[in-house]
Amino acid sequence: MNTDLIFDNTEIAFTLKTDSELERAYFLFKMISIEPLVRIGTAATNFALKAHLPIEGLIRSTVFDHFCGGVNEEDCLSVIDKMYTKGVSSVLDYSVEGKDNEKEFDSAVSKVLKIIDFAKAIEAIPIAVFKPSGFGRFSLYEKVSQGINLTKDEQNEWNRVVDRFDRVCQKAKTIDVAVLIDAEESWIQPAADVLVTQMMAKYNIEKPVVYNTIQLYRHDRLQFLEEEYKKAKAGNYFLGFKLVRGAYMEKENERANDKGYESPICATKALTDENFNTGLHYVMDHLDCMSLFAGTHNEDSSYLLMELMSAKGVLNNDPRVWFGQLYGMSDHISYNLSHLGYNVAKYMPFGPVKDVMPYLIRRAEENTSVAGQTGRELALISAEKKRRKQL
Ligand SMILES: Cc1cc2nc3c(=O)[nH]c(=O)nc-3n(C[C@H](O)[C@H](O)[C@H](O)COP(=O)(O)OP(=O)(O)OC[C@H]3O[C@@H](n4cnc5c(N)ncnc54)[C@H](O)[C@@H]3O)c2cc1C
Repeated sequence: MNTDLIFDNTEIAFTLKTDSELERAYFLFKMISIEPLVRIGTAATNFALKAHLPIEGLIRSTVFDHFCGGVNEEDCLSVIDKMYTKGVSSVLDYSVEGKDNEKEFDSAVSKVLKIIDFAKAIEAIPIAVFKPSGFGRFSLYEKVSQGINLTKDEQNEWNRVVDRFDRVCQKAKTIDVAVLIDAEESWIQPAADVLVTQMMAKYNIEKPVVYNTIQLYRHDRLQFLEEEYKKAKAGNYFLGFKLVRGAYMEKENERANDKGYESPICATKALTDENFNTGLHYVMDHLDCMSLFAGTHNEDSSYLLMELMSAKGVLNNDPRVWFGQLYGMSDHISYNLSHLGYNVAKYMPFGPVKDVMPYLIRRAEENTSVAGQTGRELALISAEKKRRKQL
């Protein structure tokens, strides 16, 4: 299959953007391409929010509206409907981070259960998602991951985390909605992995409902994938995997450096790319018992997946293969793929402006630090502006 240049079609990529929305996107990417501005902007925004200065309106009309669907799920529906007119689905992502009390964890569970109901009722929302740290204390995951004995209270607390996972996965299975479980820092991931594997063994008996996330910037994850495969074969259940490169590289390297252990991150970007693409091959070679959600903005990896599907005779809309991007990024991949009939879903973050700031800051920093990403967005927007002018 000749997949050359499919993602260069800016007319399809920005079909839903008005001229003024295109201008706003251009201005925004231009701003976040300036590293010192992001650094100062982040500090100033954090300060202003803590000091209760009235800057929410400004955040909303700039970064928030570009990268988030709204402050609550209902808010997102008009955007979701609009995207679906072009075949792009949404994964509602309750992006409130850094909370650490039982009330917040229970409220996150209620949110995800509600989103699973939404997903059942609304065709444009095929999949649900949650973050392990949204359901339990980060330091508790860390302790469990280290195999440290828990006190009686901690054990009870951990049982509640297990129960939260179970309630969500059971509901997903009962009403037949897939649920993705995000991956986070490597020092809490072992505890999360054990839980997700348990959920898969319990709820993926007839088909993959529960999906774990594999971060392929880690050099040990292909081995993990193989081990999961062996366990699933022995236990006779299906596997669902979201493959991503990984979002916490700087933090991972810093911690490994501070504590003096070998960083779990691949030594170079090229090695991460190779690892990710090998992961794609691996899952595609085991589609009889695995399903894939490829969360990536990388064009080469997306082309590779299209080629693998074609070579294996897997239909573009085969329910076992999804492409995923984040809302506000890489529309040229999402909309051109959906135009060709592939399954595409964009993570659509939502939550109160103040609470989604960590997510927004990660996006701004990522677009500043990921070589080429912002440049590519700007070049695509410029090309589309030029194309429209020539009409
Ligand atoms: C739908 C979706 C869901 C996601 N879910 C998660 C999740 O659950 N957990 C999570 O951690 N992330 C998640 N991400 C983020 C993802 O991990 C990446 O950070 C992001 O998508 C950028 O990677 P890329 O594949 O798009 O491509 P690229 O832009 O080609 O790759 C950038 C990535 O390469 C890696 N990298 C960059 N430089 C180096 C280097 N010097 N050495 C080694 N590796 C390097 C890093 O992972 C970096 O993020 C998700 C992304 C999407 C689109």
